[in-house]
Amino acid sequence: MKKIKKSEKVLVSVIYKFVDENLKKELVSLRRFFHKKPEEGWCEFFTTYNIVQYLKKLKCDVYYGHNFLKPGERYGLCSNNDFELSAERAKNQGVPESFINEVTKGFTGAVAVFKFKNPGPVCVFRFDIDALKVEESNNKDHKPYNCGFMSENTGFSHACGHDGHITVGLLLCSILSKNSEDLKGEIRVIFQMAEEGCRGASAVIKSGFVDGADYVFGGHIGISTVKTGELAVITDGFLATTKLDIVFKGKSAHAANSPHLGKNAMLAAAQFVLASSAIPRFGDKITSVNTGIFNSGTGRNIIPDSAYLKTETRGYDSEADNYMQKEVIQRAKGAAEMYGCDVEINTAGKACSFASNSELVKMAKEIYADMTEGGTILEKSFTASEDFTNIAVYAEKTGAKCAYFTFGSYLAGPHHSSDFDFDEEVLFNETEFMARIAFDILKN
Ligand SMILES: [Zn+2]
Repeated sequence: MKKIKKSEKVLVSVIYKFVDENLKKELVSLRRFFHKKPEEGWCEFFTTYNIVQYLKKLKCDVYYGHNFLKPGERYGLCSNNDFELSAERAKNQGVPESFINEVTKGFTGAVAVFKFKNPGPVCVFRFDIDALKVEESNNKDHKPYNCGFMSENTGFSHACGHDGHITVGLLLCSILSKNSEDLKGEIRVIFQMAEEGCRGASAVIKSGFVDGADYVFGGHIGISTVKTGELAVITDGFLATTKLDIVFKGKSAHAANSPHLGKNAMLAAAQFVLASSAIPRFGDKITSVNTGIFNSGTGRNIIPDSAYLKTETRGYDSEADNYMQKEVIQRAKGAAEMYGCDVEINTAGKACSFASNSELVKMAKEIYADMTEGGTILEKSFTASEDFTNIAVYAEKTGAKCAYFTFGSYLAGPHHSSDFDFDEEVLFNETEFMARIAFDILKN
């Protein structure tokens, strides 16, 4: 970090330039390290272990496992089989079994807490750490493949850029640790598990690590911003969403000689999918519904006795999403009744709508202009969902100011696709920007 003479000080952010050549090298190598070992939400064993190992070398308190999250309900936990397979893989990759036992079944993720000498505001930064069930491309043009850092975990990849988010979060912690004398108040850096499917944030809220926050910040690589170097603050367009696991239960029977004795769960589920696609839209507010997984049936000549569906609703705001959710549930119950089946509906994830605080939008504009010598931050809509919104809306209720940014990057393929990859230069911009925010708010 380069310090400029005090007389030149205009804004505090002018004094600092955090990302130098050494830090850039560390950002790239750390990002590639995490990219090779993608893990799905709630199974981030290797990821959490290595986050914790990195943080333990810094001047902060580190919380993970049962010291971070409280026991209780979890949205969208993995199956026991997935937990076992992921644990076995992580063990083979060098994670001690004792560590896996501390974080398995809903206790992944970690928090770094920096308490500085002088009192001051509490600032929370949240970074998500999970990957997706997407097989990574081994096309020769795919950079992770041709530069030797593609996923080593078959069937999984960091196809949403959360490997970049982890890295920026860790390097932000490193910067805070090196410069702790210059800061006041408290900073909590949350490494959140299971963002995909909007599952992990509610457990973070229950952990208590958001309580008492004066400021909360989050961000994402590449959404709404397509050019490397661009930066946007999200002023609206976070879609509220509800993820539903739906199970239709019927009765099996011979398909030819006794179909009348069966209850066809597949037909009930199919009826539901069609009926839910025909829900009237909510006035002029955006709404959507999608069933993305439909598993049913055990044999050609058997009346299917069960059907497993993964369905989601979205809405411009929580009112529109709640409307969709209510209509979907009504249709699921109706379809079940039509075929004499039972239906079980469980919420597997949730996020609400949110807009960044206007004071923080102004502050972000100043910081960005300073950082880029006159550059303009964009104001954008998010047009997708993110469970950061749950954390932000929770914190706002107790007076916190919250903001969410997107960090522009050229993308090799869309998010959640096997070709997804971002320009690593985005890591430099994001780290510099997030560090400047911390120093702007918490300078001594
Ligand atoms: Zn993402």
